[in-house]
Amino acid sequence: MKLLYLLGYPVAHSLSPAMQNAALRALGLGYEYRLMPVPPTELAAKVEEMRDISVAGFNVTIPHKVAIIPHLDELDETASSVGAVNTVVNMGGRLRGYNTDSVASTRVLLEAYGPLGGCRAVILGAGGAARAVACGLAPHAESITILARDAVKAEMLAQQIRRQKGCEIQGGGLADAAKAINNADLLVNATPIGMHPGVDATPIEAKLIKRGLLVFDLVYNPEKTRLLGDAEAAGARTVGGLRMLVYQGAEAFNLWTGRQAPVELMIGAASAALGGAHA
Ligand code: NAP
Repeated sequence: MKLLYLLGYPVAHSLSPAMQNAALRALGLGYEYRLMPVPPTELAAKVEEMRDISVAGFNVTIPHKVAIIPHLDELDETASSVGAVNTVVNMGGRLRGYNTDSVASTRVLLEAYGPLGGCRAVILGAGGAARAVACGLAPHAESITILARDAVKAEMLAQQIRRQKGCEIQGGGLADAAKAINNADLLVNATPIGMHPGVDATPIEAKLIKRGLLVFDLVYNPEKTRLLGDAEAAGARTVGGLRMLVYQGAEAFNLWTGRQAPVELMIGAASAALGGAHA
């Protein structure tokens, strides 16, 4: 039996065990995915335990996605450019970090939007998820605008990505949302606004959403956020965060097991676990 873990704090409400164990069982693989709550003071010691031969790898979530980097032996190119790790593979005691959030967001967008050349994107939020989405979009999109309540933070993130990727990207405050969204084809919510239990909240006014926009909300709890409801009512296309959650997990599954993850089955398991979380 090989073990897989989720290291984070807190982790109790994660959907990852449900979707990963369903996939591992479906393929008849001798692995088990377990939760491991790790307070920041214990991170270094727990990462050392992950080098054990019984551990195939692990996921990393809030608040450790950046803090874990100095404890790893190597990073793949995406993790290195995003500056955050959400998946680690144990290669005989050496730990290699990956960022499958970025790959997952790009996969969602390629499926929902189509080819991204010419796409003008607005990303709300300037945290880790915004950075992962922007790094994935950078090689494809015509322009990216990052807007956050802290305009300086958004501008700094845009500047870093511009230097790294050489793309057309700018930052600003949420007050610039009306103009930016009016000129956009894609709107991404990478803030936690609208997440359970604050389900009545939305990051932008409904009147700013127009027909023809694709609205991608990274929030997956609830599956249909108020932002997505407003977007549907305005005739915009929508995609929720559950698919990205599953795609990042599926990519991790491929890395750990060398097998192709059963994605649709994982979506069903994650969605059922989310329903159970509200019951
Ligand atoms: P983060 O690093 O904490 O960044 C959150 C961003 O949202 C920051 O810019 C923050 O601003 C802003 N923000 C937070 N509360 C706000 C509010 N009330 N009004 C305006 N702005 C606010 O978090 P993250 O890791 O990027 O995650 C963001 C969201 O994406 C979370 O809901 C997370 O669950 C979701 N997510 C989903 C997936 C998926 O697979 N679907 C993957 C990753 C993340 P400040 O910096 O000023 O606080």
